[in-house]
Amino acid sequence: MARKGLLIDYEYCTGCHTCEVACKQEHHYPPGKWGIKINEVVLETFNKVEIDYLPFPTDLCDLCQHRTVNGELPSCVKHCQAACMAYGEISELAKQMEEKPKTVLFAPR
Ligand code: SF4
Ligand code: SF4
Repeated sequence: MARKGLLIDYEYCTGCHTCEVACKQEHHYPPGKWGIKINEVVLETFNKVEIDYLPFPTDLCDLCQHRTVNGELPSCVKHCQAACMAYGEISELAKQMEEKPKTVLFAPR
């Protein structure tokens, strides 16, 4: 069976944390446990500050198999208001990645 993963377009991620909360609620994770975490990357040059938000799935991410087996999207993908997360076969996501800079591909174990 084709491996699945998440493609995250961090150019358009607003750092809103909705994916974190959606994942946590979906899995009932206790305080301190997360399926995905937002990392803030601050790049400073002498006249400019650039901030990127990079969502990073943790080892707890199971790609929401209980949802996808029923044809539903993973909770984080469904609730991302910037529509900057995609779920699918890794080979297909990699093709999208070739077309779009500032993306990361997550392939769980
Ligand atoms: S795919 Fe599911 S388990 Fe993985 S980060 Fe998204 S909501 Fe959490
Ligand atoms: S929900 Fe979407 S826009 Fe918000 S932090 Fe997560 S990936 Fe970024």
